[in-house]
Amino acid sequence: MTTPPPPAPTRILVLNSGSSSVKYQLLDMRNAARLAVGLVERIGEQTSRLVHTPLVDGGAGLRERTGPIADHEAALRAVAEELAADGLGLDSPELAAIGHRVVHGGLRFSAPTVVDDEVLAEIERLVPVAPLHNPANITGIRTARALRPDLPQVAVFDTAFHTTMPESAARYAIDVETADAHRIRRYGFHGTSHAYVSRETAKLLGKAPEDVNVIVLHLGNGASASAVAGGRCVDTSMGLTPLEGLVMGTRSGDVDPAVTFHLRRVAGMSTDDIDTLLNKKSGLVGLCGDNDMREIRRRIDEGDERARLAFDIYIHRLKKYIGAYYAVLGRVDAVVFTAGVGENAAPVRAAAVAGLEELGLALDSGLNEERSPHARIVSPPYARVAVAVVPTDEELEIARQAFALVSEDSLD
Ligand code: AMP
Repeated sequence: MTTPPPPAPTRILVLNSGSSSVKYQLLDMRNAARLAVGLVERIGEQTSRLVHTPLVDGGAGLRERTGPIADHEAALRAVAEELAADGLGLDSPELAAIGHRVVHGGLRFSAPTVVDDEVLAEIERLVPVAPLHNPANITGIRTARALRPDLPQVAVFDTAFHTTMPESAARYAIDVETADAHRIRRYGFHGTSHAYVSRETAKLLGKAPEDVNVIVLHLGNGASASAVAGGRCVDTSMGLTPLEGLVMGTRSGDVDPAVTFHLRRVAGMSTDDIDTLLNKKSGLVGLCGDNDMREIRRRIDEGDERARLAFDIYIHRLKKYIGAYYAVLGRVDAVVFTAGVGENAAPVRAAAVAGLEELGLALDSGLNEERSPHARIVSPPYARVAVAVVPTDEELEIARQAFALVSEDSLD
């Protein structure tokens, strides 16, 4: 009697490596179940912390380690040990691939990609356009490769979903030779979220993604809007870097570019000072000192004028993008809110669509106020344009894309 071949591996470990942190999830793609989730933070400091939560049956609950974790390699080794303690080790034959979030894929990477030396070199070449993010992503990939050299490492790019934008949306109106020489164009970010949320919105409307046009508002600490026509991104608010577009927690979003040279000439600020000002000390935090929308709403309720103005500026910008993307799309089936603010802040949703009835947008205030972890429509049935709330799930999307790629490969 011949023994049947072992079942194909179905688990994906998703790694999101930041400059001093690693977030991870282990998923089983047979049913998209999470087997473990965790986070290592303050890597390289004395006070590093690993929080690991096994979610398999009989899992013993959250475990925490504190104390110095020197670098990403040590962090990943610690994660591997925690997973092994739950019988989910990286040496398991059930692990199909490791999926890595990579922020910048430039023009070349429009799809998830199995990483080899040449791909890694190309991700490295993009460091000048993503200096804060790509180096950490590269370190994560190198470390994971060293731990499991035989396993496919799949890079899933934040920019990939936006590579379908037409040149008219992607190009800035600056000298073409200069732009091309320095790869200056709109790349867009949060693409994994925009892809997932626009597809889930189509599902919620009971339609195929090809048949719907949606405006996705990803409102977290970082925030971006995108116009998605028939499942393809046709415009997005973030640009060469994640600084452009909406008002964010600490980032300014759109400003007249002349602000930067004005600050150099008149205020004597250095390029690094201005970079810090616009990326870290602007947005909601710059306007009112807080970047948490819960705190801002609380202050507004107490009559705080600065918090009120910050909120109004945030909403004004959001409305402008809804209007702009309505015009870009021509016909809109849904406006969808996602991420920390979009999923939780009913007053933001209400204010953003208030006064847009002529465009076919309306809210059911009862539905809008209801709290739920599920995707839902919060507009009345008569509204021409649905308003929806769809919780984003970037880890699941990365796992799906990585699994689809390696399962395809194993069929070759
Ligand atoms: P994210 O980057 O998607 O994790 O979103 C983080 C942001 O979501 C926080 O900075 C808050 O502004 C916002 N947020 C989270 N929970 C709530 C809530 N219950 N109400 C309002 N805003 C929230």
